[in-house]
Formats: sequence, C-alpha cells, structure tokens
Amino acid sequence: PSPLLSVQDLRVEFITPTGPVCAVDNVSFDIAPGEVLGLAGESGSGKSTVAMAIMRLLRPPAVITGGHVYFAGQDVLAMNEEQLRAFRWRKMALVFQSAMTALNPVLTIGEQIADPIIAHDGVTPAQAMERAAALLKLVNIDSSRLNSYPHQLSGGMRQRVVIAIAMALKPPFLIMDEPTTALDVVVQKEILQQIAELKERLGFSILFITHDLSLIAEFSTRIAILYAGKLAETARAKDLFSDPKHPYTQGLLGSFPSVRGPRRRLQGIPGSPPDMRNPPPGCRFHPRCPQAFATCQNELPVLREIAPEHRGACHLY
Ligand code: SF4
Ligand code: MG
Repeated sequence: PSPLLSVQDLRVEFITPTGPVCAVDNVSFDIAPGEVLGLAGESGSGKSTVAMAIMRLLRPPAVITGGHVYFAGQDVLAMNEEQLRAFRWRKMALVFQSAMTALNPVLTIGEQIADPIIAHDGVTPAQAMERAAALLKLVNIDSSRLNSYPHQLSGGMRQRVVIAIAMALKPPFLIMDEPTTALDVVVQKEILQQIAELKERLGFSILFITHDLSLIAEFSTRIAILYAGKLAETARAKDLFSDPKHPYTQGLLGSFPSVRGPRRRLQGIPGSPPDMRNPPPGCRFHPRCPQAFATCQNELPVLREIAPEHRGACHLY
C-alpha cells in the first residue's frame, strides 16, 4: 500500500551564533496505514526533533533545511497556518511524555477532551461531553471521571486522558513521544497494551518514539534506529531483534558480540553520543564502536539495503 506518511531526506539544523548544527541528517522513512514504526535511540539523538519537524512544530533556532514530508500525498512542509491547524488535530495528533504538563490543572478532564471537539467539529457542549465520555471509556476510565481534575487522577490515568484527547477527532495517525517514560514499569506495560488494543480497533498508524527498545519489541511493525541525527538501521521489528546488524543496535540491545565466545550482556553502551556541534568524522559511532576499523574513521557509511527489508549504515556490510 502507498504510505500514509513519507519522510524523505529530512534535515533539521539549529542555527547558532557559531554556525549551523545539524540535528537531523537526511532521515527517510515511510509508514503505511495501520503500521507502527518504532523510532529508537539514546536521548539527544534527534528523535523528538524528527517528530516536531513532521508536525511543523519546530521553532527557531531549529529550522527544517531540507527534505520532504508527505501525508496521504499532501506536502506538509508547504501547508499554511490554517491548513496546519486542521492537519494537527484531524490527521496527526501528538502524545507527549509528560501528561502533567499536557493537561490544564484548572479544567476538568471532560472539558479538556470536549474542547477540541467543540472547536473543530462545531457540535454542542452536551454532544461533545458525550463523545468525551465515550473516549474515556475507550481508554478504560469510568465516565464519572469527566468531572475530575488532573491532580485527582493517578499518573497512569492522566496519560490515558492525554491519549483520549489525542484521539478526540479520530486522526488516522498518532505520534507518541516517550508516552510512558514518566510512569512505573507496570503502568507502562498496561498503557502500551491499551495503545495496542486501540490501534487494533481503530486502525490508526503510530510513530512511536522511545529510548527503550525493549518497550517496542512486540508492539512495532518496523523499527528505525537513530544515532546522532542519522538513521543507523531500519528493519522489520522481528528481524531487528533476532538479527541486529548495526553495532549500535547491538549495543542498545545489550549484546555486543565478543570476539570469541558468547555474546556479553552489557548495561548500555560505553561512552556517550557525540557533541553535535563537532561530530566525529567518518562513522559518527566509531569512537564507541567495538568493531570499528580504519575506514570507519574517515568515511561516512551510507544507509543501504543489507538484507531483505533491512537497511544499515555500517562499513561492515
Ligand atoms: Fe562501527 Fe565502523 Fe560500522 Fe560505524 S561503520 S558502526 S564504526 S563498524
Ligand atoms: Mg525526546
């Protein structure tokens, strides 16, 4: 099927007094209707910047300096403000990490879900409140909570409310940026389960952003790994977990192959991501890569097909 979202050679730079800093460098991916793409990488890799660029929410000093974003064939980067407003609610909604800051403390849950429905669908407040109750039910919250304020709900419930708000106008596409990160492990699992069920029932696509690959193992159709603003590897989820090709992905999965003997389990990857104002030449991962060789220090690896539907940017392939 033709993609619902197509991101092509996206480039984002931060304009600083000492010159431009490239935060997202030639990133391309497609997401089909009903598909979940997991976008993973350490913090600072550019994941949220990709999300904000797709929704045209970047503000200076961050500027899109190259590439294209198409949604259902529409050129998102060419939309005017009015087109963007409709696009953001009806076509693509964003669920942020922190439900506490996303909700207004002085409005009830019901008012916050109903507001965009009244504003965009022109229904009466009573009708909007009925839809708000149905949305709450979708995320497993009793409609008696319509009159509650955010502080009266648990963290997990608040995040469910944020998801309900994102779904208020039934967009076919959701971007979820670390939607469970602030929650404890048990609640994280519940919310992910809930999102998976909603996705099955309602059929929307998701771009799911996380620093924790283990969260999206069963949940994603495909996975894209971002390192220092560039895609390191993309593959079907099952292939990425069973046969990670890129040394960075192997590190994220805690399984750098050792030269002899079985894979070692590691907590994280030694070293830290590069300073984007002055990234290393060649492969940006080479200072941390246990498999780096001479070429890696001077030549930038290009993302290319290294197995069926499996792309990697690494000189080993
Ligand atoms: Fe490691 Fe070289 Fe591959 Fe980069 S290109 S990931 S340094 S082996
Ligand atoms: Mg982020």
